[in-house]
Amino acid sequence: MKRFSALIAILVLSIAAAAQDLGALKANIIYLSSDELGGRGPGSEGARKAAGHIAGQFKKVGLKPFKGDSYFQPFEMPNQKTPELNVIGYIPAKEKTGRSIVFTAHYDGYGIVESVEGDDKIHNAAQDNAAGTAALIEMARIYVKKGSQSQNLVFIATAAEEGGARTPRADMTGADFYALNPLFPLDEITINLNIDGFNNLGPTADYWIMPRQGIDIIDELLLALKPFPMKYNPPDWIDGMNTSFDTQAFLSRGVPAVTIWTGFSLRGGAGGKVPTFGRIHAPDDEYNDTWRFDGAEENLRMYEAVADRFLKSGKRGKVSDVSLFSEEN
Ligand SMILES: [Zn+2]
Repeated sequence: MKRFSALIAILVLSIAAAAQDLGALKANIIYLSSDELGGRGPGSEGARKAAGHIAGQFKKVGLKPFKGDSYFQPFEMPNQKTPELNVIGYIPAKEKTGRSIVFTAHYDGYGIVESVEGDDKIHNAAQDNAAGTAALIEMARIYVKKGSQSQNLVFIATAAEEGGARTPRADMTGADFYALNPLFPLDEITINLNIDGFNNLGPTADYWIMPRQGIDIIDELLLALKPFPMKYNPPDWIDGMNTSFDTQAFLSRGVPAVTIWTGFSLRGGAGGKVPTFGRIHAPDDEYNDTWRFDGAEENLRMYEAVADRFLKSGKRGKVSDVSLFSEEN
């Protein structure tokens, strides 16, 4: 019976480990999107608190700090008193190399927007992108457990994505600042895997990769994602979002970069159903108890499968049409 109970103990432990990770995912989403952080607006105390929290999580997970003992990469923003902070941790490669895979998720939001009608002026930015930030922390946890790889793995919770997106692009985004001041050489980045929005609907029937054009690694990505029981089914409107993500900072500089979305159609049932969720960039992008986490692990594993494939092949793709990701687009 000893072996049997040991096996049970292992099973129970591994289930507990998986559950604990999703528990941490949920707890981080709830904290980052709480009113206490005020929607993590540009230069705000709430954004600062969020940065501190993420740095604490990176440390706890076991990532190496960006510089010395600090996880922060500060940068100035025009018309803003306090600097913005990218939060960066990494796992050094087994053997010294300049090659890196860069995971990103922006942690900022619009913050408190006084011009919004009604009492609730806090844009909690739960789906966009407390969820992605929490997922980034879990990606780090997955790879710390797996140990050093053939390339450096960099995890960046980027600042000022929303600010950069809604003001003239003379304003820097955190991702831009990193691309200009990278930890490992920009031209040796294998791929940027960006998490912006994350599954809270449950297992879905389809998934998308954005962008779907202008990079030469789509086939490679589809092969990596083939084991997942989902159909690659990108809607046409995503072509209008080529410059809407942190990936732009990399793509416009010739570095392959993608954001993976697990579509909106739930798996099972005839044709699936299209769930509704709070509007993004509005005060009702809030966490609530209708959020499901049974598709979350799969979403994490998709990013892992892509990173693993590129780690294994050592391949580095090209941006075949940089103009798709330039400012004018
Ligand atoms: Zn976003």
